Amino acid sequence: MIPAAFDYYRPQDLDGVISLLQEHGDDARVIAGGHSLIPLMKLRMAEVPHLIDLQSITELFGIEVGSKIRIGAMATQSDIINDISLASAAPILKEASLQIADPQVRYMGTVGGNVANGDPGNDMPGLMQCLDASFLLRGPDGEREVKARDFYQGAYMTEREDDEVLVAVTFDAPKGGYAYEKQKRKIGDYATAAAAVIISKDGSVCKGASIAMTNLSDTPVFCTDASNSLVGTSVTADDIKKAVNAMIEAIDPAEDNRGPVEFKKHAASVVLTRAIKSAWERA
Ligand SMILES: Cc1cc2nc3c(=O)[nH]c(=O)nc-3n(C[C@H](O)[C@H](O)[C@H](O)COP(=O)(O)OP(=O)(O)OC[C@H]3O[C@@H](n4cnc5c(N)ncnc54)[C@H](O)[C@@H]3O)c2cc1C
Repeated sequence: MIPAAFDYYRPQDLDGVISLLQEHGDDARVIAGGHSLIPLMKLRMAEVPHLIDLQSITELFGIEVGSKIRIGAMATQSDIINDISLASAAPILKEASLQIADPQVRYMGTVGGNVANGDPGNDMPGLMQCLDASFLLRGPDGEREVKARDFYQGAYMTEREDDEVLVAVTFDAPKGGYAYEKQKRKIGDYATAAAAVIISKDGSVCKGASIAMTNLSDTPVFCTDASNSLVGTSVTADDIKKAVNAMIEAIDPAEDNRGPVEFKKHAASVVLTRAIKSAWERA
């Protein structure tokens, strides 16, 4: 449990980070909270000869809340939970963050690390797809934005280039009811299945819905068919069943120590049904 030797850098600005990434290519990685990267290095599943710490890059910190919300990559899950304006403008973030790991991990784990990692078990990627968030990336050629729904290519594979840093996530303040439901084996565990749902209502009719799930495929799954199937309905038990069935068609779980495929599909149905009911009640 001792990592291989590495050089440690702590640049004071983003240009310094990007030039180190350019200089060392594949041999360099940035480190944010370290709660995914350090365990991998200690297990020797990741060898990182050049480790670039983001803790001194002030422009990566902070949360701005208006009609548009911007969360700096270095904001921690704990920052999200404790930001009163954010909890009021987008309460689904607090609800989801409180279900990540335990307080010790949440004090260190960052939004940027959680979404950039590409781990199918991380909760924020599916949540960001549900919010239709964009990721702001900066590299040697400047800045670009990638939609969360287009960012994930496979397990640990994303649209981010090796020499790009994820600077912030942005999204419109969500309207309507919300729910983040997660099934896990024990307190502090990653999801067996988790669902992020946002629903808006016009009278007794569903006006809009957004549904994404976590840890049921190599990537988070945003399902347009499941979301659209609720629109125009009164979200009855039958309507919920249709949306759940559409999502079950879209996921592709693998058997592992969280259970066989059929069990995961069952767990997905249960958490998604609960999340839709709860989001509808709150809408
Ligand atoms: C015991 C335990 C339980 C956990 N349970 C959960 C859980 O239930 N749900 C969940 O979602 N997470 C869970 N986590 C993960 C944790 O919440 C962190 O969010 C996660 O480790 C990533 O954040 P980090 O800041 O620690 O990233 P790091 O470990 O520092 O980095 C992770 C990866 O992202 C890259 N990276 C980091 N920041 C950037 C950036 N700004 N730009 C580009 N690349 C970047 C790094 O190079 C690295 O490859 C758990 C962790 C532990 C240790």
